[in-house]
This record gives sequence, C-alpha cells and structure tokens, in this order.
Amino acid sequence: MPKDFLKDVQPSYDVIVIGSGLAGLTAANVLGRAGYRVLLLEQHYKLGGMATWFKRPGGHIFDVSLHGFPYGMVKSCRRYWTAEIADSIVQLRNIRFDNPMFSLTTSYNRDDFSRLLTGRFGLAEATVREFFDTARGMNFYDDQQVTTRQLFDRFFPGREDVVRLLMEPITYANGSTLEDPAITYGIVFSNFMSRGVFTFEGGTDGLVALMRQELLRNGVEIRIRCPVERILVRGGRVRGVVVGGREIGARAVVSNANLVSTILRLVGPEALSADYLEEVRGVRLNNSSTQVYMALKPDERLDESTGDLLFSSTAPRFQTDLLLSRDITSRTFSFYYPRTRPAGRPRCLIVSSTNARYEDWAGLSREEYEASKRDLIETTLDSLEKYVPECRRRMDHVEASTPLTFQHYTQHVAGASFGTKFEGLAVSRKLPEQISGLYHSGSVGIIMSGWLGAINYGVIVANDVDALLTRATAGDPSASLATTGNP
Ligand SMILES: Cc1cc2nc3c(=O)[nH]c(=O)nc-3n(C[C@H](O)[C@H](O)[C@H](O)COP(=O)(O)OP(=O)(O)OC[C@H]3O[C@@H](n4cnc5c(N)ncnc54)[C@H](O)[C@@H]3O)c2cc1C
Repeated sequence: MPKDFLKDVQPSYDVIVIGSGLAGLTAANVLGRAGYRVLLLEQHYKLGGMATWFKRPGGHIFDVSLHGFPYGMVKSCRRYWTAEIADSIVQLRNIRFDNPMFSLTTSYNRDDFSRLLTGRFGLAEATVREFFDTARGMNFYDDQQVTTRQLFDRFFPGREDVVRLLMEPITYANGSTLEDPAITYGIVFSNFMSRGVFTFEGGTDGLVALMRQELLRNGVEIRIRCPVERILVRGGRVRGVVVGGREIGARAVVSNANLVSTILRLVGPEALSADYLEEVRGVRLNNSSTQVYMALKPDERLDESTGDLLFSSTAPRFQTDLLLSRDITSRTFSFYYPRTRPAGRPRCLIVSSTNARYEDWAGLSREEYEASKRDLIETTLDSLEKYVPECRRRMDHVEASTPLTFQHYTQHVAGASFGTKFEGLAVSRKLPEQISGLYHSGSVGIIMSGWLGAINYGVIVANDVDALLTRATAGDPSASLATTGNP
C-alpha cells in the first residue's frame, strides 16, 4: 500500500498554506503562533522551496540559493522566527568584482561603496550622497515610470563602469534589468547597502530544520509530498483545497505556489472577473537560472582571499540582456568554506550561478540537453581556473542545474527563480478582492522576491489573514463568509 501522506488530516482548518517556500513557511508560522489551526501542504519531499540544499557522496552539501541576503533578515527572523535563527546570521565580508572594467573587493555597504565611488571611480562626494539618499528614499508611492536606467543617467551619465558596479549584483540578486522601475532597484540596493551581505551559518538545511521545529512548536500541521490540485471557490469565497483527491476545508487559503499557476491553474478563470484575468495574463515571469555545483576533494581547501561572492565577467561592457544569454560571459561564484557549516564535516564548495531563459533550455532533445549541461560545466570550470588554480584536478564532484530543474522541483512556471516582474505584486495583492479569503504570498514584483522579500511578504499576508479572520469571528458582516471552514 502506498503511504498516505494525508493520514489523520482534519476535515477543515482555519488556514491552509499551499507551498513551503520562505513566504509560505513564514505565513504558516505567524498564523500558527497567533493560535490559528494551520495546515501546510508541500508537494515536494522537502520544505524550503528554492531555499533548498542537496547532499552528494563525500560529505558534500550544496546550497542552491544561499548566496547572500541583506541585514534585514536578522530583524525579520528574530521577530517572526526565533532568536536562534537570527543569531546564526553572519556577514560575508569579501565581495569581489572582476571584469574588464575593474577588479576590486568590497564589504558591499554604503561606507565602502562611497569610498570606492569617490576614490577609485572619481565621483563627487555630493553626487554619491544624493544617489544613496534617493535610492533609500524610494517607496511604492514614487513615480513607477522612472526606470533604473533613467535613475543612473540622472546621477552618473555616461559612466558604464559605475552602472556595472551598482547594477550587476542586483541583477543577479533579483533578475531586474535597467528597464525595470527604479523602485525595484532602489529598495533592494538600499537593503544591501545598509550593512552588507549576510548568510546563514549552518547552511540551508540547518535553517529549514530550525524553522520546521518552530512550526511544530506553534502547532502547524505539516504535510510533505502533498501537491494541491485545486483551490475550492464557491459564491465568491474560498472554501478549501483538493489534495490527493480529498477536499479539505479552510476559512482562508494562502498560496505560496507560483502566482500565475495559483490563479490560472489552481483557481481557474471561471471564478475571476474579466478585468482581473486580463491583468493576470499580462504578468511577466522573471527569469530563471543555471547553476554549476562543484565540491573540492575533502582534503582540499580554498584560500579565504578567493572571496565569498565573486561577480565575474569577461564581457567588455555591461548589458543586462547579456546576463541571460546562453553564451555565458558573466558568472556569480559563491565560495563556501568549512565555516558555512561549523558543526559539519569540513568541506569547500563552489556554486556558479547565471541568470538564464527557460526557452533556451526547454526545447532541446535529451541529447542536446545533456550536451548543453556538459558544456555549461566545462566552460564554468574554464572560467573558475583563474580564481581556483588547477580546479579540475582538485574537484571531487561537479554537476549542473538548468531552468528545467527549478521548474521540476518547485513547479514554478518556466522555472522562474525570482517570481514575477513588478506588475505581479498588484495582481497578488488584489487576489482577495476577487475571492474572499484567498491570498497569494511568494516571490513577486522583484521587491518581494529573494529570501528577505519572501519572508517579509509571508508576514504581510499572514497579517491580512489574521485581520480577516478576526473580523469574521467578531461578526463583521464584510468578513462573515470566513466564519466556517466547510469545503
Ligand atoms: C538559483 C537561485 C539563486 C538564488 N539566490 C538567492 C540569493 O542569493 N539571495 C536571495 O535572497 N534569494 C535568492 N534566490 C531567490 C530566493 O531563493 C527565492 O526568491 C525565495 O526562496 C522564494 O521563496 P517563495 O516563498 O517565493 O517560494 P518558493 O521557494 O518558490 O517555493 C514555493 C513552494 O511551493 C511549492 N508548491 C508549488 N505548487 C504547489 C502545489 N500545487 N501544492 C503544494 N506545494 C506547491 C513548491 O514545491 C515550493 O516548495 C535564488 C533563487 C534561485 C533559484
């Protein structure tokens, strides 16, 4: 008999969360802590979504998306998770750039960037100060028509080298381009500039294990290997979900699955207004990624001067579309030293990431796909040689992932690594206006993607759900539809 992953599940809950990415986990935790009966359903056999890891023989543990996040994670994790999680967040001090325009190492914060921009790049102090203040002052009420390119043109006209320094890591961090609204750049850049780049000591496996413990402490019921097939909607309100052919009721549902597939596949167009559907169909997905995972032999060590994060490029000029090309010129290397997992076996690993288009990988035959992966590995090792001499001889294990890999494991349409473009945020926020009690939380709109963005969006949506259920319990007629959890 196959195992029943829904064994002993209740007929209804206050809230069902679909998906255990960082937004889904956080929404579930905040709601569980507030005393709601929460069921968390994850289709994969692991929690974490893109915040994931995998093990290979030889004691190697690869982190897929733990490359760096802003300091804001400390505050969010302390408040919405635990002190133990917050206290394990540590700074990555050596962020390197190496391209035909410049090579430098920085701690990637405002002080150090101001020093570089005025000293090495020769800009006036007042211009640099005004740029930082403008980027930091950006918010949703700003003019969303101004693009990142226009922002740079205003402060640094003709300075491609400066644009490259300021933009390359952010393009990598959230897939944004010079044509996206400047606000998507300003918010993310300022988040990093406040203190630098941080990581989780203990690795993604350590973080997700601590999160799971906390969810259980807060009474959240967790079920893995449970793909939700449908979200049940009747009379303009959410009633629950269908999973494993079973209906489970809920007063509210939070979907952490991809925004577009939540709306078009799990809900379906019938329940939505024509205007909203048009908006949904206009949402552009963000790009995907390829990665090469490399583990050094157990007794091999990387010199710490290699850096923590290295933005390397051989392209003479900076163009965001080049960063998506199959003909890879730019790679971001993350170097992991034994300090990444102080309690684990001492290992040195390297993950090379490159933004990529799903279409470039989806139409290939089996043979072409395998050959392209081999080519990706070989060209990556070629470019790593400059930073890790004799790297081929020193390697214990190498493998690659593509946009198809991300799609397979997370069900994200087109393997999108960073959710949707800016317009996705409004569509995500409007979902409960279409269907009472149904929310989406997860990477959208560039700003709400990445580890910090996803966690913060989980909190925002958990607060929305709490407000609805509190009003319903108090007998507010505008929320009365959410009083029962019958499917
Ligand atoms: C290669 C790569 C590198 C990255 N590097 C960084 C980085 O350095 N710093 C950073 O901050 N961010 C990084 N990110 C982005 C970051 O990892 C994501 O933005 C964030 O983890 C997404 O969280 P999320 O809550 O949106 O959900 P996701 O991680 O997208 O998870 C969604 C979950 O929903 C589940 N699901 C989907 N459909 C169903 C269904 N029908 N039923 C049940 N479950 C379902 C999926 O299995 C998945 O677990 C990177 C991403 C990638 C891919």
